[in-house]
Amino acid sequence: MAEPKLDILAIGAHPDDIEITSGGLLIKMAREKRLTGALDLTRGEMGTYGNDKEREQEAMLAAEILGLTFRENLALKDSAVEYNQANKLKIARVIREMRPEMVILPHWQQRHPDHLACNRLGFDACFLAGLKKIDLEGEPYRPRKIIYASYYRNTEYSFLVDISDEFEQKVKAVAAYKSQFGDNDEKTFREMLENGQKNIFHPGTTIFDTMHTRNHYLGLLAGVKYAEAYSIKENILIDDPQKMPVRSI
Ligand SMILES: [Zn+2]
Repeated sequence: MAEPKLDILAIGAHPDDIEITSGGLLIKMAREKRLTGALDLTRGEMGTYGNDKEREQEAMLAAEILGLTFRENLALKDSAVEYNQANKLKIARVIREMRPEMVILPHWQQRHPDHLACNRLGFDACFLAGLKKIDLEGEPYRPRKIIYASYYRNTEYSFLVDISDEFEQKVKAVAAYKSQFGDNDEKTFREMLENGQKNIFHPGTTIFDTMHTRNHYLGLLAGVKYAEAYSIKENILIDDPQKMPVRSI
């Protein structure tokens, strides 16, 4: 099998999913000179605000802030992402082309059907990309590792990543989606709401409140300021348990 070309590829259903759930880890890895990328399945055209063009520009700006070296959008139908062979192969083609060593998928417990479809399609695509006889352009390739980013529904995690030094930059990446979240300040967002624009988050909160609360809470679980949560399906193998971080008592 060919050598990896990208270190990490994050796959998400809608532009901004990746920033909100895995932005900190992607920034951290890019700062360590790892090659990172994002694959968005839809353009998020069912969202209440913004148009295609705006959202595309916002996604490219966010990619720059995250330090990504690759970003592509498959333009599947938003809110109608189907779990079928054709969609699996569209993702598998990108896996073969970009050859990521590790893939980040949405966790398998989800509220939005597109997020669940993305989880299932992404896993199957990683598998199919390695089949020699499948009718698909490019060399067979399979990522070594798949990790699952926590959205909101799952409350058990395999590990947490310390993003204390990356949190501020993560907020900037999400704020790039101005059509969705307004400017990165409380006042502008409140004004949007007062102008009759619907709040797509919980009443009285902004995406920035939500991220702060959630990443801060996850950080508290591990004794750091901010963290992101991930799950894996296999076990973690450790050489020396005495070097495991996070105090028990
Ligand atoms: Zn989404």
